[in-house]
Amino acid sequence: MSHTSTFEVLDGQLQGARQIATPNFNQRPEHTDIQLVVIHNISLPPSQFGGGYIEQFFQNQLDWSAHPYFQTIEGMQVSAHLLILRTGEVLQFVNFNDRAWHAGRSSYLAHKECNDYSIGIELEGSDDTDFEEIQYQVLANVVATLQAVYPKIGPHIAGHSDIASGRKTDPGPHFQWVHFRELLSKAKQHKKTA
Ligand SMILES: [Zn+2]
Repeated sequence: MSHTSTFEVLDGQLQGARQIATPNFNQRPEHTDIQLVVIHNISLPPSQFGGGYIEQFFQNQLDWSAHPYFQTIEGMQVSAHLLILRTGEVLQFVNFNDRAWHAGRSSYLAHKECNDYSIGIELEGSDDTDFEEIQYQVLANVVATLQAVYPKIGPHIAGHSDIASGRKTDPGPHFQWVHFRELLSKAKQHKKTA
């Protein structure tokens, strides 16, 4: 259960995450506080896990000829701050102080351009597969840490489908929001008493 140990943020980096460089980020607009967490799922090829293709995709190093599906996303330049693998390992691609490219055209509570003010977390998964329990536990611990470091996040945790409805479906029907929120409140309680 080492992945569920507590996390810390130092200079915008999540301690305990494996850091991977990507060119797919830019600066947040000036005087923009982090005030939203967006939860996604991704798998490459869809519904296949492992293989390291997501990491390559976020680094613009994916071999587009390696799978027919990859040709449908050829040339896309995207990223997320964090990716939580099926094993519970956390990878960080973009410093929290920077703007990752995960949400696209989006709006939360009538506030557009969610990339400007959010942290994007990808779960390795798909719309038709259950997530791993370890992913929920790690996600809850990470989000509790982010809420403590960036208090304006508060209760503002959304799925990609919530901020880009009609365009995006992730994290999908298999993501158990109630279970996640239960684990999150436990993680927050644990942080308070630690
Ligand atoms: Zn998404």
